[in-house]
Amino acid sequence: MTLTAGVVAVQGDVTEHARAIERAAAGHGQDSEVVEVRESGLVPDCDALLMPGGESTTISRLLRREGIAPEVEAHVEAGKPVLATCAGLIVACTDPQDDRVNELGLVDVTVERNAFGRQRDSFEAPLDVRGVGDPFPAVFIRAPAVSEVGPEVEILAEWDGRPVAVRQGPVVGTAFHPELTGDSRVHDLAFFEAATV
Ligand code: GLN
Repeated sequence: MTLTAGVVAVQGDVTEHARAIERAAAGHGQDSEVVEVRESGLVPDCDALLMPGGESTTISRLLRREGIAPEVEAHVEAGKPVLATCAGLIVACTDPQDDRVNELGLVDVTVERNAFGRQRDSFEAPLDVRGVGDPFPAVFIRAPAVSEVGPEVEILAEWDGRPVAVRQGPVVGTAFHPELTGDSRVHDLAFFEAATV
């Protein structure tokens, strides 16, 4: 079986996510094909979707302009998995508390952008993430935090008393970047195991 995974690539580099997806799929004896999503028409053929970090205002604007946003919404309505990381989570949420972000409303959470302060723009923390076993080396880069969660949302991890990994149905969202340390357990959780956590 081949997993076709779309990585939203309207901004930035997708290589690390592609490697993590390939490793996670290989762990399940599956081949994977990573499709870089920069235009409409590709998401409907994807089994799984990754919304990476970057700049949430820019990403959300491009998703609307290119007509990709409604395809992502349909993907989630069909119950297919999504992993939204950092800016991806801001784009996926219901309330980014910022009018410049055209949120998709896929995860019922309110987020606070750049929540961890200027002095701690980026840091790495060993995070207990529900469903992944030993602490996960989580890299935070100008990361958001979740400030409110809806009733359907499960909190998978917290840092400093704030939710930083959440799940709602087929969507897993992380405030951190799970692709930067060569550890693919979060990709594995989102694409292969989220439904059974
Ligand atoms: N600070 C960025 C934003 O608010 C997110 C940073 C990231 O994705 N690493 O859009």
